[in-house]
Amino acid sequence: MTRWSVQQIRVGALTVTVLPLGEITATLSDWFAPDARAVPEGVFHLPVNALHVGGSGVSVLIDACDPALYPGAGQAGAVSACLGRAGIAPEGVTHVIITHGHHDHFCGLVSPREGPAFAGARHILSSLDWSNGSLTAEAQAADGKAADPAALERLFQLGLLDIGDSARPLPPEITLIDTPGETRGHCVVRIASGGEVLYFLADLFHVRAEIDDPTLCPVWADEPALRASRRRIITAIRRDNARFLCSHLPDVFSACAFAKASC
Ligand SMILES: [Zn+2]
Repeated sequence: MTRWSVQQIRVGALTVTVLPLGEITATLSDWFAPDARAVPEGVFHLPVNALHVGGSGVSVLIDACDPALYPGAGQAGAVSACLGRAGIAPEGVTHVIITHGHHDHFCGLVSPREGPAFAGARHILSSLDWSNGSLTAEAQAADGKAADPAALERLFQLGLLDIGDSARPLPPEITLIDTPGETRGHCVVRIASGGEVLYFLADLFHVRAEIDDPTLCPVWADEPALRASRRRIITAIRRDNARFLCSHLPDVFSACAFAKASC
């Protein structure tokens, strides 16, 4: 039984497929300062979403956890198999965008036994989350899941990981926007086609309470940087009258979600 289902969203001529590959179980009072307002109590189950953007000449994957490491969404199996069940040919993926260097966003990209899941794709990570052939200590330390950078190190050794600028340019419909705070290298993905815009905000917001109150920041974040990134992106979403979604929320939101936000 699947707690969350695969969703498909049309953005102009593109089809965006939301793949809830795994699940995080968390006590939100551990994520926010004790005096934080409006943080729900109790244990929460959050999806770990990957995104696929498809269209004519476009096949881009954004993030990918390993369903075996983040179980509970009923989709056990390799990431490429999940894509296949959604009707997407894994071998056609040209780029894999890793929004930031936290384990739940990249650990499904390399299998210890079978190697890279997308050997024909360029993998893209910000230079600000990378140093001396591995994730920065900052990116690893901030991840409560005790990040194991082995998957990214393997991609780097194989010459499949592009740090900063990609060796193969992204399709023009897809833009990366630097949004430091969750990690230094965290980025948001803007997808635009036919006058429609969808933002994938990754971990700019984790739970609904942060969208309602963008001053609410998790304890591991660089708070001034995260709040500044949120201000910029909220302005951009309103300007574009865009929809948006996040890594750990099942909903697709409209710009109206920020109606009561003051940040
Ligand atoms: Zn995450």
